[in-house]
Amino acid sequence: MRKKIIAGNWKMHLNKAEAIELVESVLVGSKDLDLDENKIVVFSPSFVYLDTIVSKIASLSNVFVAAQNCSEYEQGAYTGEVAAKMLQNVGVQFVIVGHSERRQYFNETNIVLHQKMKQAFVHKLQPIFCCGEPLEIRENQEHFLFIQQQLENCLFLLSEEELLQTVIAYEPIWAIGTGKTATPEQAQEVHHFIRKCIAENYNATIADQISILYGGSVNAQNAAQLFSQADIDGGLVGGASLKAQDFRTIILSI
Ligand code: PEP
Repeated sequence: MRKKIIAGNWKMHLNKAEAIELVESVLVGSKDLDLDENKIVVFSPSFVYLDTIVSKIASLSNVFVAAQNCSEYEQGAYTGEVAAKMLQNVGVQFVIVGHSERRQYFNETNIVLHQKMKQAFVHKLQPIFCCGEPLEIRENQEHFLFIQQQLENCLFLLSEEELLQTVIAYEPIWAIGTGKTATPEQAQEVHHFIRKCIAENYNATIADQISILYGGSVNAQNAAQLFSQADIDGGLVGGASLKAQDFRTIILSI
């Protein structure tokens, strides 16, 4: 059975005290959030707070921590990089790979992203693989082809076992941080397409088991409608994950 996942991507925001307070406020009375092994929450702080946030959630079930990135290399003279092995060592369980901001500002190619995913698997981290089209591609109605290529050039190089450990996040770039959300129908159409591509490249059973999250200006108002779509299994949430009450509402919307 595929899991429902709400993941908060904090990007390069918050200081340490704010990060701790945010987790505490989101999880206050965490029983009300109705989490179980098939409905989980993931926090993705900056590298420097990973250790702290891992300790903060250590006693809770169904709450996890993701890094926002990892190195494609195992270890070595790569100043400024953080290895998947180091993330595993501090108790991180997930890693975001291929966020559009990494692809765009740090020139991360599908080949590099594939290597990062390989590193994640070696060190028992589950990748949250992001894909999604820029505005001009959507306007030219070329988004299906664009996403198919992102999948084929990175994700579909994985083995069945690796793919089953992967979470996919469809994040149309025009919707990230813009306040412009894809309609539930637009998002569902792409999620369904991604699942169809997985079925064609692997099989229908695998396609049915993969969680596909939507990301792009998810907020407390639009979350329930997005999550009501058949192929949307949760959200990768940026801005709204920094506001405890909104993030709680989003968690409760699934
Ligand atoms: C994101 O950063 O992955 C994201 C979806 O951001 P936002 O929710 O702010 O659009």
